[in-house]
Amino acid sequence: MNYFNNEAEREAVERAKKLALEVFRPLRAKYDEKEEFCPEAVEAMAAQKLFGLWLPKEYGGEGLGVNALALVLEELSKVCMGLALPAGTSALGGMPMFFWATPEQRAKWLPDLASGKKLWTFALSEAQAGSDATSIKTTAVKEGDYYILNGSKHYISTGEAADFYTVAVSTNPSRGARGISLIVVEKGTPGFTFGKKERKMGLRTNPTYDLIFRDCKVPASNLLGGEGKGLFIVQETFDYSRPGIAAQALGLAQGAMSEAVKYLKIRKQFDQPVISFQSIGHELAELTAKVEAGRALVFKLTSLMDKDFLAASQNALKNNTTVHDELKNLKGPRWTKYSAMAKLFCSDTAMQVADRCINLCGGIAYTRDFPLEKFARDAKVTQIYEGTNHIQKNEIMASIIKES
Ligand SMILES: Cc1cc2nc3c(=O)[nH]c(=O)nc-3n(C[C@H](O)[C@H](O)[C@H](O)COP(=O)(O)OP(=O)(O)OC[C@H]3O[C@@H](n4cnc5c(N)ncnc54)[C@H](O)[C@@H]3O)c2cc1C
Repeated sequence: MNYFNNEAEREAVERAKKLALEVFRPLRAKYDEKEEFCPEAVEAMAAQKLFGLWLPKEYGGEGLGVNALALVLEELSKVCMGLALPAGTSALGGMPMFFWATPEQRAKWLPDLASGKKLWTFALSEAQAGSDATSIKTTAVKEGDYYILNGSKHYISTGEAADFYTVAVSTNPSRGARGISLIVVEKGTPGFTFGKKERKMGLRTNPTYDLIFRDCKVPASNLLGGEGKGLFIVQETFDYSRPGIAAQALGLAQGAMSEAVKYLKIRKQFDQPVISFQSIGHELAELTAKVEAGRALVFKLTSLMDKDFLAASQNALKNNTTVHDELKNLKGPRWTKYSAMAKLFCSDTAMQVADRCINLCGGIAYTRDFPLEKFARDAKVTQIYEGTNHIQKNEIMASIIKES
């Protein structure tokens, strides 16, 4: 089923499809083996204008919103979720900035983000602060026109390859969660270095690094939205970004299934193609139905979100305000429950699809000559990052209680 709201979205998905098949496909096994960042993938996505899909045209974007972003992440992830991830992390690092940036900050940062010239990523997690983001220890102390950052971040996607990092810091440890703020740190700022690179089960085509800040002097003008607003900004961002993780998971699931179906049509046992065994076909039917149910949830959600998202983006430009202020003025719904449901359902579906497709194909799927083992390794992280699925269930549960 198609979930395009306009011709521009359809065209963006066509560009993504061609790129994934022509550029990602020949590279994915090599980079999975090397466990390195792939600059060719970023150049290709930038050339196809995929970084700025969701951003206003006034900043060099395509003005399409979050549905287009999710559709394209889905399409790219059918071939390799990790090679597509810089488009996802740039959106995740860029969204808190886009929502809360002043007009001056937007003018300074958005054009290079939209063109893909500069990559962004988001740094919230720390060694002791995973699900509990309120326990972050990285501090930012104001000294004149600067904040001095000390501390470290853990498991940061796109790692050392990003140019800008939206970093959660404590500007007032005595206030706990209310003392958390977000600040943009540019690579190359003295005192900002990289630590351990993770050796991972999957998502090996996107590097994951620790970030280290030692007396790192960041201009105070890089703060987003004022001191103490950090956790609120993070929650607002996740409401809009988690459907993107769900879309990655759905793309991965479809990619795994199409590899499996191709093989099952040619593999013969007992003198017949394996796909003709009813038990195999029934399993594929069940998985296909689940993926389509996930797609209906995600793209209905992103299409609804776009109503406010696109209006707020334009109003902020017109009124010289922040996108967050304009979203507030529109008084639209909070999407927390639905975003959490989308991520929960689609990441569990992806894991189930990848696992079952290995069962369906048999021994070949357990080898590295066949892409299914990589799909299964990659699928796992969709249940973990941007909040584990326990945390998604907590969000859904909290909404149910609040609404009842
Ligand atoms: C490959 C990869 C890339 C990542 N990229 C980024 C990134 O770019 N930026 C970033 O900031 N972070 C990133 N992360 C971090 C990721 O968001 C965290 O791993 C995740 O939030 C979980 O935190 P944790 O690993 O510390 O697990 P923990 O929080 O220690 O959780 C351990 C277990 O306890 C459960 N649990 C914890 N609290 C609760 C609760 N209240 N109720 C029920 N169960 C609970 C969890 O679900 C889990 O099962 C990445 C992680 C990985 C693996």
